[in-house]
Amino acid sequence: MLSKLFGNYYTETDFVEKTYAELSKFGFSADNAIVCVGVCRDEITQPLIALIREKWGEAFNLSSLAGMFFARRTGLTAAMHHSPNIDGKERYVFYSLPHIAIDADGRIGVYKRVGREEESTACGALVAFQKELSEGKLNLSMDDIDIEQNLLKIRLLREIPYGYVPDLLELTKITQKVVQKDMEYTLNTIVDKRKSDYAMLTGIQLNGPKDNYIAPSLCYAVVDGIRQEITI
Ligand SMILES: [Zn+2]
Repeated sequence: MLSKLFGNYYTETDFVEKTYAELSKFGFSADNAIVCVGVCRDEITQPLIALIREKWGEAFNLSSLAGMFFARRTGLTAAMHHSPNIDGKERYVFYSLPHIAIDADGRIGVYKRVGREEESTACGALVAFQKELSEGKLNLSMDDIDIEQNLLKIRLLREIPYGYVPDLLELTKITQKVVQKDMEYTLNTIVDKRKSDYAMLTGIQLNGPKDNYIAPSLCYAVVDGIRQEITI
């Protein structure tokens, strides 16, 4: 079922191992690169960060609700300034993955959290947004009490045709594309490709009843200014 919905998918361990192995072919390593991770704030996304940290060292945190990329220029600039530059070059590795739960019966967005009796949802931020869309009651106020969720809604609405209501699966896929697009735009604006190599590793994190999995999307490295696709 996961293959039908998402195409290729891997365990988180395999995804991190494979991406590390592929990037090592392009000169990236734990010693010469800083790794940055953008996932949702949800605690069920965190095992991926732990695996990435194990492989690449401490990770700069670019996370926001639903894995949205709101750190933008200031966040990326800070991360880049923390990169090793031992051989005169800086290297940045970006893992960027929104998430969605799927339960044992194949129900999308449903997650049973340890210690809670009733069923829960993931990604909760996207579920809440999708509910507002489907009920036709969109709250776009910029009150401080929910500023990150409001930013999420305003940004995602730009990619959804007026009046159209995607289901949670489609909304998650839209979110993944938006995060990728926003990161690429910011990277293209601020990275000096003569002095720095970087890699984008994108996809969707799938929160199953027992384990998480990764369905990769676009993955590539930019080395000496030339983009090289990475096949996972
Ligand atoms: Zn979430």
